[in-house]
Order: sequence, then C-alpha cells, then structure tokens
Amino acid sequence: MDNQVLLSVNQLKKHFPIRKGVFGRVVNHVKAVDGVTFDIHKGETLGLAGESGCGKTTVGRVILRLIDGAEGEVRFADSRNLLDLSQKEMRAYRKRMQIIFQDPYSSLNPRMTVGSAISEPLKIFKLYPEKSARRKRCIELLESVGLGEEHLNRYPHEFSGGQRQRIGIARALSVEPEIIIADEPVSALDVSIQAQIVNLMMDLKNEFGLSYLFIAHDLSVVRHISDRIAIMYLGRIVEFAPTKTLFSIPKHPYTRALLEAIPVPDPNARKERRLLEGDVPNPINPPAGCSFHTRCPYRFDPCDKVEPRLTPIGDNQVSCHLYDSKYNDTIPETILNLAPPEGAQS
Ligand code: SF4
Repeated sequence: MDNQVLLSVNQLKKHFPIRKGVFGRVVNHVKAVDGVTFDIHKGETLGLAGESGCGKTTVGRVILRLIDGAEGEVRFADSRNLLDLSQKEMRAYRKRMQIIFQDPYSSLNPRMTVGSAISEPLKIFKLYPEKSARRKRCIELLESVGLGEEHLNRYPHEFSGGQRQRIGIARALSVEPEIIIADEPVSALDVSIQAQIVNLMMDLKNEFGLSYLFIAHDLSVVRHISDRIAIMYLGRIVEFAPTKTLFSIPKHPYTRALLEAIPVPDPNARKERRLLEGDVPNPINPPAGCSFHTRCPYRFDPCDKVEPRLTPIGDNQVSCHLYDSKYNDTIPETILNLAPPEGAQS
C-alpha cells in the first residue's frame, strides 16, 4: 500500500425522496447515506461493513454514479468532484473504477457467451480493436481468474456460482481498472467458495496493483481481505480502524456487538456475547442524538440528545460519548460495570 490517496469521499449524503399523491409530492426522505467520509490509498483494501440496510451498498453505487442525486464530494486521484460530472464526463472514470456485484448470475447477460461478456467493455472503451487480439485478451483474463479458453463460448447458466463470480471479476479486470468496488461479492456463494474468491481477489490485487472498496456484512470475510475497516450504522460511519486494531480493540459498542456475533467454529469455546437488542431504526426518522442509542447497552445521559462526532482515539476513529472526556464524570457506575469497550473513560 502506498501513501497516495486514490479515492477520496467527503461528507457523502444520499437521501431518497418518498413521494405521495397524484402529483408525487415529496413528503419525507430515506437517509440512506448521511455524511460518510473516507479515503482509499493506492494498493489498499478498505472494508465497509455493517448490517443490511446500513447504506453501505448505496455508498458504492453513488461513488460510481450508478445512483445520482447525492451530495458531498467524491474525488478519484486528482479529479474534479465526480458528483458534478455529466454521465459523458464520467465515462473516462468508469474505465478506471469498476464494480463487482453481489449476484454473479444476474450481473451477466444470460444470452451472451462468456467471451462476449468479457469483450464487451473492451469494445466500449475501444481497447484491442482487432478481433483476434480481443480474443487473446479474453483468454488471458479467464486464465487470470482460474478459468480457460474452453469456457469462452459457454453461457452463464452452464457455470456454478463461484465460476460466475470469477467471470464477473474477469469482466471488471478487462479494462485494467485502478480500483474495484466489490459489493457483497461473496455473500451469495457457499462458504468454501467464498474463501476461493476472496483469495483470488487478494492475488489479483497484488498482481495488478489494485485497490478495493470491499463492501460486506460478514465481518470475518471483511477481516480476511481488508487493510482498514469502516463500520457503518444507519448511513454513517461509527468506527474506522486498521483491521488488526479493530478486531483486537473494538471501541464502539456497535462494533463490539458485531464482533461478538461472529460464530466461533469450536463447540467447546465459551464466548461472552452481548447480542444486539431490537431492530435497526427506520432511516426515515433516525433517532435523535446517537443513532445507536435505542440498542446500545452503554447509553447514558447525553446519548439520546447529543450526536457524537467521529473522533480519533488511538489508532481508531470512534463516534461515541463514552470516549469524550467532557462526559468523564457523568458515566454511571452501572454502565462502567458492564465492562465498557476497551479504552473508554473510567
Ligand atoms: Fe452507546 Fe451512547 Fe456511545 Fe451511542 S454514544 S454508542 S448510545 S454509549
């Protein structure tokens, strides 16, 4: 990983309007993404994790402008704000930023052979204009993802889920992107196949010097591939840390609950679990103060009134009042007795 920032996202917001009546009057908004900020360095994999509905998929799609109408800034290398570009101007960046989708089957056209699916982006971006060179390139790409020439003329339905995801990766790689946004790339696959695809993505990253934004709800998968991890809750990042730090010293109560929920493969292993209570609140009307306060076992006086800000605490950035020295003397004894997250005021 190098120090050069490749993708910079600043205060990204995407609120989807809710319309009602014959005239489609906007009556409210779903705050899917509500002020997300992060950088991805060249050669880095940033994991973006959280429960379903936290807004992580919307972040990926807004960055690539597959969803329009967002606010904030997205800069690729030294580009202008991508959110201000026309779709025509975005074309140049689409070659440099690719996406791998969750469902490898629906992301491939069932009527196109694998060869046509992989060579389509090459035609769109006018790469390898000679048919024979294009074919050679497709074979190289298939080989780089563990498939081969014999698969060129087959159709998507002839492949397993894992093979289809390999085809999706080959297609994304065809235009030699610098960053790939992988949106839940393994969650539709069997566990044994998940490991193969994640390992393949790690090998390709080293081989082609790629960067990834790896979006997933399964923290054990995110841990395997990511250099740093951002945890999202209700459209916001609540904790951000290098992978090793996040797993050894989770600071935000939500991160801690997510880690405690990861199954341990040893039936004899005893694990203290504090399972999350309640459902994720409605993103149309997120709770006041800390959006996690309705489910947080550590909540105390300011939590339902004052919104915490993402603040550096050691190697982590955390959005939680437990770490705010201003509230040092007001954390109740009962909360401290709950064994507060590592590093909280005591
Ligand atoms: Fe829990 Fe309060 Fe921290 Fe929110 S700010 S995570 S409610 S302790």
